[in-house]
Amino acid sequence: MNILHPESLESAVMMKGQYADARYLAGGTAVLSLIGGLGDDASLIDISRLLPCSLSAGKDGVLIGSGSKLSGIAGSALLPGHIRQSAMFQSALQLRAQATIGGNIALSRFDSYMIPALYVSDAVLFLISPAGRRSMKIDEYILSGDRDSIIESILVQDLSEGKAVRFARSSHAHAALTAAQAAGRYAYAVSGSGFAFGDKDSYSAIDYRDDLAGSGAYKRYLASVCFGEAAL
Ligand SMILES: Cc1cc2nc3c(=O)[nH]c(=O)nc-3n(C[C@H](O)[C@H](O)[C@H](O)COP(=O)(O)OP(=O)(O)OC[C@H]3O[C@@H](n4cnc5c(N)ncnc54)[C@H](O)[C@@H]3O)c2cc1C
Repeated sequence: MNILHPESLESAVMMKGQYADARYLAGGTAVLSLIGGLGDDASLIDISRLLPCSLSAGKDGVLIGSGSKLSGIAGSALLPGHIRQSAMFQSALQLRAQATIGGNIALSRFDSYMIPALYVSDAVLFLISPAGRRSMKIDEYILSGDRDSIIESILVQDLSEGKAVRFARSSHAHAALTAAQAAGRYAYAVSGSGFAFGDKDSYSAIDYRDDLAGSGAYKRYLASVCFGEAAL
């Protein structure tokens, strides 16, 4: 295992291009749990001390440093309730205190804690790549498949209050469905199946698959009713 310590985020993205299969190390909750399977030649690029980790409110919204821990997101009075609650979906206190919001977005898991809540709050990501800095809406980032750029910060543009839901057999079990709605936007993250972003009916575009979290039919049913009048 090769652990690299770049001096800047710009150097880190250059390193990513030089080492095949290198991964960034932020909070480490996901990459360090893979260590046994990464192989002797694997490289970790330690960006944990380089990432911004403060939250600040401005005229365009709330800017979140991507190194902010989920515990800090959960406790911030600057953010709407559905974003704070989504950070609490990581139910283990120790993991919440270690996991970063940038790492959570970059992983883009189909049972993602944060992506639905950030989409419905019109989040924009600020990215660093070898070509320079750029910004991208969170759904564009997910669909782009770019996992070489570093997420430096996240701007939450719409601070309207909404709702976030997570369906799992227990707080520590894999979620069948994570979803959020706010300000007329809806987002669905479905285990083993994918994401949908857009209006309330956007869930119907997902190809629902069976997996350990539940059958495809069960997950589709959850998505269809989770924001119904009775559920609200
Ligand atoms: C028991 C357990 C259960 C979990 N359950 C869930 C779950 O249900 N849902 C869920 O979403 N996650 C889950 N996770 C995964 C993980 O804990 C979180 O997603 C966490 O927020 C990842 O952040 P990190 O800082 O620890 O990332 P790291 O482990 O440091 O990195 C994860 C990945 O993100 C990339 N990365 C990290 N930071 C950045 C950045 N700033 N820019 C670009 N790429 C970056 C790395 O290259 C790496 O591939 C679980 C983890 C564990 C151990």
